Amino acid sequence: MMNKKANILIIDDEQYICDSCSQVYTKDGYQVYTANDGIKGLQKVKEFRPDMVVVDLKMPGMGGMEVLERINTIDPTIVSIVITGYATIESAVEAMKRHAFDFLPKPFTPNELRIITQRALERRKLILETNRLREEKDRMKENFISMVSHQLRTPLVAVQQYFEVILAGMAGTVSEEQKRMLERSKIRIDELIELIKEWLDFARIDANKLVSELKPTNLIPVLLKSQDSMQAIAKQKDITLKMEVPENLPLIMGNAGFLEQVFLNLLENGIKYNKQSGSITIKAVTENEFVRVDFSDTGIGISEQELSFIFEQFYQVKRTNKTDGTGLGLAIVKRIIEAHSGTINVTSDPGKGTVFSILLPIKQEE
Ligand code: ADP
Repeated sequence: MMNKKANILIIDDEQYICDSCSQVYTKDGYQVYTANDGIKGLQKVKEFRPDMVVVDLKMPGMGGMEVLERINTIDPTIVSIVITGYATIESAVEAMKRHAFDFLPKPFTPNELRIITQRALERRKLILETNRLREEKDRMKENFISMVSHQLRTPLVAVQQYFEVILAGMAGTVSEEQKRMLERSKIRIDELIELIKEWLDFARIDANKLVSELKPTNLIPVLLKSQDSMQAIAKQKDITLKMEVPENLPLIMGNAGFLEQVFLNLLENGIKYNKQSGSITIKAVTENEFVRVDFSDTGIGISEQELSFIFEQFYQVKRTNKTDGTGLGLAIVKRIIEAHSGTINVTSDPGKGTVFSILLPIKQEE
């Protein structure tokens, strides 16, 4: 929307105000509409959807304050300016509360009108742009969700069905040993499908909804399970996974499934970006109202400049030896932690190692 083509509606019971403003606006190339009372004004708001409305506060019949409120219900992106003869602080504050953008005391010069109008139209432009970007973001998120569910879930479900067929003996005899292995594989695939499903659910619901699903949770079994799951991968690189957790760690309000996903992600990174025969130490302590969990690795580290970006979606540090990954891991980690009203921080010593610190609020006694 270009300023010059903006539509402006003037609502004022005094004809000369309508006329003089119209004159200024027409000269500047705007499309102008006028109305002499609130009711007619609102009809024109509905009919012409102006970018901006200039409203007189004191009018017989429906007053300016009410007009402002109704404009906001019709279309909250319309920007309003209030003009009035009795410019008092109170009426200005009152008008601002009712979503007016600014306040123009009578009498005003054409230039004062122009300046305030330009600013108001600039605001309108920003509002429209923000809405557009928000919609685009939602659309991209939807696309991404359907891509993940299609590209990841569908092949896994197919594999699972083959397992069923083989296990049922429909593709020839299966030895006991093979059957045991296939059954274990099938369980892992079930878990993976479940994880994808949960993550998709998570991507669809916003943080506010997850909050209502938080239960008193003991982190120790969740940490142990995560450590256990990563043991085999760690071994391939001769990496030791150490755990320093006090037995009496307080409960936190959490969702064990999502927290496990956080820990697995951090451990996976700690292994992936570690050196041969390195280590990862998981340490949990109580710190004020929080449980703090530190994941310290002896890996390649992250440079100062990159640190602030690693939690962004799809961000990957450029490395000479390429590792696989999506750059999504830490973004998901951060979202899950924030949905727990927690925080995650990172410090790193390039060449020596990295520490990810999570703070999760302790469950309060009722
Ligand atoms: P990726 O799928 O690339 O691992 P992440 O979101 O998990 O995506 O991580 C983002 C980037 O942060 C990675 O590309 C990696 O370079 C860096 N990073 C994450 N964890 C560590 C770590 N423990 N040590 C060094 N670099 C790390």
